[in-house]
Amino acid sequence: MLWKVDPLEMEFLEADPRLQALMLYADWWSGRQFGHELLVTDVGRSQSEYDRIYAAKIAEGLFFIGENGVKHYAGPRPHLADPLHGIRTRAGDFGVQHGGLTGAGRLLMANARRLEEHLSAQFRRSDRKPTALLHDVGSGQHLHVQVEA
Ligand SMILES: [Zn+2]
Repeated sequence: MLWKVDPLEMEFLEADPRLQALMLYADWWSGRQFGHELLVTDVGRSQSEYDRIYAAKIAEGLFFIGENGVKHYAGPRPHLADPLHGIRTRAGDFGVQHGGLTGAGRLLMANARRLEEHLSAQFRRSDRKPTALLHDVGSGQHLHVQVEA
């Protein structure tokens, strides 16, 4: 696996072991099917990163009140990592080629769809949520993969 920035490797090593296994499998399958490793673009997120990404959702009322009366995003947070409280991230993102972004390890959009379908079929979740999701939450297209809580 390739890392967009070096600290992601440490975040990966601190992630939920089931997520580590899923991401390693995805990387192996990509090598076999597409002939290249995957680029990891995001792993763990802090609550404040979630608050920044989903500021619009907080404004719409999707929040909880934290210390000092600060509003925090309260939607699904599978990337949430809080080592101090034993919370391990359950989600990771792989880079996809889009808008001129073509660096090493980024999946062609068609291959990202194939990997999305393969992972969701191969690793079905009992809560019926998708194991892999090709989407854009504001920072560009990427393949989000996640394991159950
Ligand atoms: Zn994600």
